[in-house]
Amino acid sequence: MANVIVIGGGAAGFPAAGRAAELGARVTILERGPELARKLRISGKGRGNVTNTAEMEDFIAAFGPNGKFLYGAFSRFFRDELLELLDRLGVPTEAERGGRVFPASGRAEDVADALVKWVRGVGVRVRLNTRVKRILVESAKVVGVETYAGPVHGERVVLATGGISYPKTGSTGDGYTMAAEVGHTVVSPRPSLSALVVEEAWVKRLQGLSLRNVKAVLYLDDKKLAQEFGEMLFTHFGVSGPTVLTLSRLVPDALKEGKVTLSIDLKPALSEEQLDRRLIRDFAQTRHFGNYLPDLLPRKLIPVFAELSGVPADIPVNKIIATQRKAIVSLLRDFRLTIRGARPVDEAIVTAGGVSVKEIDPRTMESKLVEGLYFAGEVIDVDAVTGGYNLQAAFSTGWVAGESAARDKAL
Ligand SMILES: Cc1cc2nc3c(=O)[nH]c(=O)nc-3n(C[C@H](O)[C@H](O)[C@H](O)COP(=O)(O)OP(=O)(O)OC[C@H]3O[C@@H](n4cnc5c(N)ncnc54)[C@H](O)[C@@H]3O)c2cc1C
Repeated sequence: MANVIVIGGGAAGFPAAGRAAELGARVTILERGPELARKLRISGKGRGNVTNTAEMEDFIAAFGPNGKFLYGAFSRFFRDELLELLDRLGVPTEAERGGRVFPASGRAEDVADALVKWVRGVGVRVRLNTRVKRILVESAKVVGVETYAGPVHGERVVLATGGISYPKTGSTGDGYTMAAEVGHTVVSPRPSLSALVVEEAWVKRLQGLSLRNVKAVLYLDDKKLAQEFGEMLFTHFGVSGPTVLTLSRLVPDALKEGKVTLSIDLKPALSEEQLDRRLIRDFAQTRHFGNYLPDLLPRKLIPVFAELSGVPADIPVNKIIATQRKAIVSLLRDFRLTIRGARPVDEAIVTAGGVSVKEIDPRTMESKLVEGLYFAGEVIDVDAVTGGYNLQAAFSTGWVAGESAARDKAL
C-alpha cells in the first residue's frame, strides 16, 4: 500500500487524506499549525458557504479562464457528492439566496469537526505543529518530504498548503516555494476577493453602512469593466461586501493602466426617468431636503449624500430647481468612489495565481513533472468569485488527488 503524505490539513487536505485512506492507503497529514482546518472554521463569516447550487457551466465560469481545468475533478466529485459526504458525516446542509449552500446548523465548525472525525476514523495519522520544508524528489519521483523536524518517507505527496491570504490560519505560501523548487511554474500569487481602499476621505463617515440591492459598476477611466448587483459595505478605509469582493479581482491589473472608479447605483430598480418623475412628485412638498432624504436613503448616508449633491439640507424641497434635481438623480444613479487599491493579500479571501494548471493532469491532479506529486486546493492557479465555489474546488481537487494518489499505477 502507498504511503501518502498530505501536506496541509485544510479544506483540500481532508478529502485527499480521507479518500486515500478509505481506499486503503497509509496516510499521514502533516499540518504546520496547532489545529486542523483553521480557515474552514472562519469561512463564510463562520457559517461555511461550502458550495453553490449553480449548474456546472456557471460554476466553472465563476473561476474565469482557468475554470476549465476543474472539469476533470468536478466530473468525479462535485456538489452532490460533497453534500452526500457531509450528510453521511452528520452535517445536513441547506441552500440560501444566490444558491449558496451552508451547513443547516449555520456553523462552519460543524463541517470542520465532522471532517476531522472522518479522517481520524478512517485511520489517517495527523501530525500537528509539523511544518514541511521541501518535497524530496529522486529521478523525477517523489520519495518523501523534509520537515523542520526531519524527513518523512512516502511515495505519494499531496501538496494542499493553500494560498497566501489570512496567513494566521497557516497559509503563508510555503507550497508555492516547494512546488517551484521541484520545477513547477508558479503564476505570481496576488490578492483576489479583497476589500478596496477608497481615496475619498468622507468614506470613513460611512463606516459600518451596509447597502442591499445596489448595482456596483467598476470603471477603468471611462470604460466599464464589470458590474455586480447585490450587497456592499462601507469600512473605515473603503468598501467591502460581496459585490465589491467580486469586482476586486479586476482592480490590481486595471490600476496599472489608469484611473479606477466604482460607481454605485443606489436605485437600480428605477429608470432615470422614473426616478426623476418620483422626485418631481415628491418635491411638491414643503419639507426640508434633509428631512426628505430618509425617504430615499439610509440615515447614515444622508449627510454625505447631501454634501455631495451640493443641495443645502435646509432648503424646502419645493424650492429645489431643475438643475439641482438633476444633480440629485445623477448622484443616486452614480455615487462614485475613486479606488486606490486592494487591501493587502494577507487580508484577501482568496489568492489568485499559484501552481500553473498547465503542469497538472486535470483528471488526477498529478504533477506532469514529478511522479507521485499531487496538488489540491488553493495552491493551484484557480480562484473564483464568492458563493461557495472556492471551497467546492478545494474539496473536489482534494478528493481526486487523494483517490489518484491511493490508486495510481503500480501500487
Ligand atoms: C475569511 C475567509 C472566508 C472564506 N469564506 C469562504 C466561503 O464561505 N466559501 C468558500 O467557498 N470559500 C471561502 N473562503 C476561501 C476558502 O476558505 C479557501 O479557498 C479554502 O480554505 C482553501 O483550502 P485549502 O485546503 O487549499 O487551503 P487552507 O484551507 O488554507 O489550508 C492549507 C493548510 O495547509 C497548512 N500548511 C501551509 N503550509 C504548510 C507547511 N509548510 N507544512 C504543513 N502544513 C502547511 C496550513 O496551516 C493550512 O492548515 C474564505 C477564505 C477566508 C480567508
